[in-house]
Amino acid sequence: MKPLWHPQTAAAVSQISTQSTSYLFSGPQQIGKRTTAVWLARQLNCTCSDNRQCQSCTLIQAGSFPDLITVTPDETAIGVSQVHLLNHDLRLNPYSRDGVRMVIFDPAESLTIEAQNSLLKILEEPPSRTIFILLTTQPDAILPTVRSRCQTVYFATVPAAALGAYLTNEVRVDHTEAIRLADIAEGHVGLAVQLAADQAARQSFQQAEQSADQVLSASIFERLLLAAKLAASTELVSQLTIALGRKLRHQLRASQDPSTLSQIANQLQALERYHRFSARKVNPKAALEGLMLDL
Ligand SMILES: [Zn+2]
Repeated sequence: MKPLWHPQTAAAVSQISTQSTSYLFSGPQQIGKRTTAVWLARQLNCTCSDNRQCQSCTLIQAGSFPDLITVTPDETAIGVSQVHLLNHDLRLNPYSRDGVRMVIFDPAESLTIEAQNSLLKILEEPPSRTIFILLTTQPDAILPTVRSRCQTVYFATVPAAALGAYLTNEVRVDHTEAIRLADIAEGHVGLAVQLAADQAARQSFQQAEQSADQVLSASIFERLLLAAKLAASTELVSQLTIALGRKLRHQLRASQDPSTLSQIANQLQALERYHRFSARKVNPKAALEGLMLDL
């Protein structure tokens, strides 16, 4: 299944080739960055006609393709020893004779400074037939020296109509449900597809919506308690902020009263500030607490 992108993201993705070896995929949580990276690995290695039956496709589908390497944090960070280990593995030739090896850093903002400097050396003299993709919600947390080695692809939210049509035609969701999920996900393709496919994800998002209601009606003290509870999960925080944005925009459309309108506008600005703030290298818990005080 081909991922759905914002038209500008689609244009940037179509330019990706082995001519360049390092890419920075930048954008909010659950927008489709990881899905796109895995889809690209498949495109670059597939030897069959329908993207299903060749060995590469089968192994990528099963999550066991040896030329698709995902580096994730050991505990809280991707440390320099992980990058050294990777460097050692990359000295070997790729497993497939004609294919392309892909290394995904997920999330790249969890690379320590030391690890980023070590990665920089690899990016400066990349091994043959290897593409590096750094996934991040916090591009400012990546060293300028590393960023400048990478082509940046920005992932933006997708218009609801396009997302609804995608869910109906590609994910095979009933039309009415597709429209509802596209509305809920606020243009986050990854979230919409996850909600369509996974009952547990729908329940988790319902909780996020309840938390958004609580946040909007609670005292600052209660909000801070909730922030402390949610901060450990980036996915929950992302869903909470999506649900908050959606609720506030609905309230804005429904309200007539000038003082309520200006209060909602201020809350939306606070959410906007939070998104800008959390794109920088700040402690996610501190960013969320800032939002709770700001709302
Ligand atoms: Zn194939």
